[in-house]
Amino acid sequence: MAPATRPKPLVCGPRLLADLEALSRFGRRATDHGIDRPAYSPSYRAALDWLRSRMEEAGLTVRMDAAGNLIGRLGRSSGPAVVCGSHIDTVPGGGALDGALGVVAGLEVARQLTDLVPGLTRAYEVVAFADEEGAYLSEIGVRAMVGDVSPDEVRSACGPDGPLADVLSRFGLNAADLSLAARPPSDFAAYLELHIEQGPVLQTLGKRIGIVTEIVGLLTGDLTFFGEANHAGTTPLPMRKDAFRAAAETVSAAFAAVETEFPAETRLTFGNIQLAPGAANVVPATAKLTYEIRAGDEALIDALHSRVLALAGRAAQRCRVEVADRTLARDAAAPMAPEMIATLESVASARGVETVRMPSGAGHDAQVMAGVCPTGMIFVPSIDGVSHNPSERTDVDDILLGASLLCHAVFDVLGCR
Ligand SMILES: [Zn+2]
Repeated sequence: MAPATRPKPLVCGPRLLADLEALSRFGRRATDHGIDRPAYSPSYRAALDWLRSRMEEAGLTVRMDAAGNLIGRLGRSSGPAVVCGSHIDTVPGGGALDGALGVVAGLEVARQLTDLVPGLTRAYEVVAFADEEGAYLSEIGVRAMVGDVSPDEVRSACGPDGPLADVLSRFGLNAADLSLAARPPSDFAAYLELHIEQGPVLQTLGKRIGIVTEIVGLLTGDLTFFGEANHAGTTPLPMRKDAFRAAAETVSAAFAAVETEFPAETRLTFGNIQLAPGAANVVPATAKLTYEIRAGDEALIDALHSRVLALAGRAAQRCRVEVADRTLARDAAAPMAPEMIATLESVASARGVETVRMPSGAGHDAQVMAGVCPTGMIFVPSIDGVSHNPSERTDVDDILLGASLLCHAVFDVLGCR
């Protein structure tokens, strides 16, 4: 008999899809089916309770840590675990797959291990990390787990239901105990996350599986131009000190530079502008531009930042205004581990599945785990690149293929073939 050529999925498709559907009901709006499930909210609590019972049914030992991460464990009760995870909180009006797919697929992996590997000698965990979307504090769950949340951040964090400390207390947790969620790197053998791409690249390339090479770094800042308010009717253009004109010239020159001088995956965004005094008949005295630069390579971020500053300086000079730059946030790029990339590529190619390497332009829990253990990520295509939106969709076959590869990769890393 000819050998089967199709990849043999280990996952039970109907069960996984039913789990995704069940989870999507928590916080789902009746109107547009967008999901409102911010971390620590009542809808989030209900979703966690549901997930806990699904984990227990799968034979996992389940606990919630001091940051609200839900952890299901299989196999040895101590020692390093191979971990699959993601998040089940959503942005306001979010979709059913962002984060949820990685958690539900991780749960399905646990069931396969229970069924196929009785007496697992190593440990496997599936984790739903708290507040990946940052309703209160971005990626607080995973950061607390690796011991990277400062008490100051926690004290000042505030979100849709008030200060984080109050919200945690209503949730049954204590902000002062958050550091108890920290675990040593020796707790983690490897981390794997399945996620929707949330962009159009895979669909455009006609590929079903992306292997993430790195999660890009990010620099956010603002540029403020200081000119002089004056009468819009009586002041001739060459005599103005127009702060907005300098800002506008900077923006167009910066876009021209990024498109001609930098690799295509470099991202530059001017997401906000504020003009003062802000009246139709007054030459703007100040213009404050918020910018964000993302790239997989720190040197590229620095190079583009310098280029934008130089262009801003030149525009300011031309317009006879002053300019000041301020950095608001800097997140380092997080490379995925070469051995995890190799494992994911080899389980795919062993099953005749083509993959493409790609950076992740969005942040994920994996970027924090990458700092403590070998980490890898699988992307499946987002239809039309849509995410953070009620119409976020992925083809069912792609969902199951991604989950199946995740499962094979975990078996491989655990040494169960
Ligand atoms: Zn996500």
